[in-house]
This record gives sequence, structure tokens and C-alpha cells, in this order.
Amino acid sequence: MDDCIFCKIVNGEIPTKFIYQDENLVAFKDIKPIAPVHILIVPKKHISSFREVSEKDRELLGEALLLAKKLAEQEKIADKGYRIGINVGKAGGQLVFHLHIHLIGGWKGGVR
Ligand code: AMP
Ligand code: ZN
Repeated sequence: MDDCIFCKIVNGEIPTKFIYQDENLVAFKDIKPIAPVHILIVPKKHISSFREVSEKDRELLGEALLLAKKLAEQEKIADKGYRIGINVGKAGGQLVFHLHIHLIGGWKGGVR
């Protein structure tokens, strides 16, 4: 998608260090982290929002969630606990309209 910042990251137009990449997914650090660990898990395919996912994305969504779990272990935030989240639509706080999962954690204490 022209003009989509995450498509530009996925296709290398915006140079970004990937924490992970495979055929269907990439993961990279959020540019404005809200916690010591803040990673975005992004399907390479442009899907504008969680609202737009459908049955044909079942496997991709499963892969993305399992990757979140794997990266939480890799980043060593799993023992303490972490958050995974998807902001959906403007009122849901979605700023970038290319589907992504936030993986957030690494606080000293807890989330609150
Ligand atoms: P959301 O509000 O769920 O759409 O989240 C979009 C996230 O993308 C925000 O947390 C931004 O800080 C992050 N973001 C925007 N541009 C970039 C970028 N170029 N590299 C990494 N993260 C970005
Ligand atoms: Zn896109």
C-alpha cells in the first residue's frame, strides 16, 4: 500500500532493524516505547485494521500471536508478565492503519 508507513518498513523503504522476520511477519521495536520492552508484530500483508481481518487470516493471526509469545520469552519479560494488544480504529487508539500487535513489558514492578 502506497503511503503506509508499515508497508514501507516491511519492504525496506524505511530502514528498520528487525528483531524477527519470516515469510509472513516482521517484528521491530516501537519508535516511541511506552515500556522498557515495546515490540510491534506486523504481518507483511497490508490489512488496515483488526476490523478488516477475516477467516482467511486465521493462520496469520495464529502465527502472529505465537510470535508474540516467543518474543516475550526471548526478551525475558515472560516470567514477570506482559501485555499484548491491538488498538482497533480511531477511538481504540489506532494511529497506524496497518494491522499490528503490541508486545509490552519489562517494567520493574508491574504494569500499575
Ligand atoms: P497504534 O496506535 O496501535 O496504531 O500504534 C502505532 C505504533 O507505531 C505507535 O506505538 C508508534 O510509536 C509506532 N510507530 C510509528 N511509526 C513507527 C516507526 N517508523 N517505527 C517504529 N514504530 C513506529
Ligand atoms: Zn501497510
